[in-house]
Amino acid sequence: MTPEEAVQRQSTMTSERGPSTGDPTLRRRIEPWEFYISYDPKELCKETCLLYEIKWGMSWKIWRSSGKNTTNHVEINFIEKFTSERHFHLSVSCSITWFLSWSPCWECSQAIREFLSQHPGVTLVIYVARLFQHMDQQNRQGLRDLVNSGVTIQMMTVSEYYHCWRNFVNYPPGEEAHWPRHPPLWLMLYALELHCIILGLPPCLKISRRRQNRLTFFRLHLQNCHYQMIPRHILLATGLIQPSVTWR
Ligand SMILES: [Zn+2]
Repeated sequence: MTPEEAVQRQSTMTSERGPSTGDPTLRRRIEPWEFYISYDPKELCKETCLLYEIKWGMSWKIWRSSGKNTTNHVEINFIEKFTSERHFHLSVSCSITWFLSWSPCWECSQAIREFLSQHPGVTLVIYVARLFQHMDQQNRQGLRDLVNSGVTIQMMTVSEYYHCWRNFVNYPPGEEAHWPRHPPLWLMLYALELHCIILGLPPCLKISRRRQNRLTFFRLHLQNCHYQMIPRHILLATGLIQPSVTWR
């Protein structure tokens, strides 16, 4: 093989490789199937997956890793790992972003608030793919308490799916643009329900567990009592009302 051929071969190999070639944190990436199943809003997957980013002070460097449930919920595991491994001055600021496949249960919400109250320099943003037992009043209150403690909670949108795919998934070569596209309506229905939770309104989304052809069916219950309290742009975004329709 001539040196030119070697260079040619090397460049071909590089372009054929996956995204994470040369990535020192390859071990933290999860496999594509795992990402599909864990974060599909249509799947009521049993396991919870956490993908997270940590940024310290003014540094641009982002530390990324992932976690799962063990005997503890994944949120508790994160807090235990973080507090046991990191000894930092409480005045140092730290931004944490979580991409959770399920929203935190009320017990985890409580633990998160305790953790944040002990670490005032830490800010937490949580993106979730699904709402965990969202009809349960304690879980709803838990999420509200988190928001009231300064935690930002949002449903994952297309851009978070893309971000996670690029940064946390060991996607096959040439598949950078092939992140999972979930039906926008499903993402919006969850966003609508999260809005109701934060506003202290009754549930408007009912998830029936009827499964057919491997699909889980969602049923939406909009209730008159709080229909009018949901901001119009959110209803418009879900397609539940038409732009021309006026209602009061
Ligand atoms: Zn939990």
